[in-house]
Amino acid sequence: MTQTMKYEADRDADFARWATSQTGGENLRHCIQCGVCSATCPLSLYMDYTPRRLINLAREGFKKEVLSSFTIWLCASCYACRVECPKQIQVTDIMYALKRRAIQEGVYPSRFPIPVLAKEFGRMIFMWGRVNETLLVIDLFLRTNWFKFLSMTGLGLNLMRTGRMSFLPEHIQRKEELRKILDSLDAQDKQEKKEVAR
Ligand code: SF4
Ligand code: SF4
Repeated sequence: MTQTMKYEADRDADFARWATSQTGGENLRHCIQCGVCSATCPLSLYMDYTPRRLINLAREGFKKEVLSSFTIWLCASCYACRVECPKQIQVTDIMYALKRRAIQEGVYPSRFPIPVLAKEFGRMIFMWGRVNETLLVIDLFLRTNWFKFLSMTGLGLNLMRTGRMSFLPEHIQRKEELRKILDSLDAQDKQEKKEVAR
């Protein structure tokens, strides 16, 4: 992988403040860059930045590199890094916070399926309180890989014929209450962002 020189002027101080104020990110500055997280991570081989490098970039405010990286989407939330970290840094929680921020800012890697899936999943939960697998899969393939979609239509039709997949979304009861909870979490998130930006 090509190594790129980073400059002080490329840092975003607001982003660094935000990253170190997230749940799990409070002790980001205690990271000693020992690399145990990268050595433990089963997926670091496939990541563009290893967990150790990502932690360093996040706390120093290299927002563009962090939010557009594949690393945050490849993280499988296995918690191996968290268990082994000598400084008890919550790497997994930080990955979640970075994923949320990347979705909010729409800067995730283009046509990469995992952020599209996460966003659509959240939208369905807000609308119906449940996920409809058929619509989720169709939406995912249409937005990321048309050819794959066409090659899977036979399988999809068979699943629908045998009643394993349905186009009809299921609704939970009292979804208005769920929406109020989600709206309030969203408002809380926005408020926290404003406070960090001050
Ligand atoms: S294991 Fe912990 S202290 Fe070591 S580099 Fe990773 S996050 Fe930093
Ligand atoms: S939680 Fe994510 S970053 Fe940590 S070891 Fe597992 S896959 Fe790697």
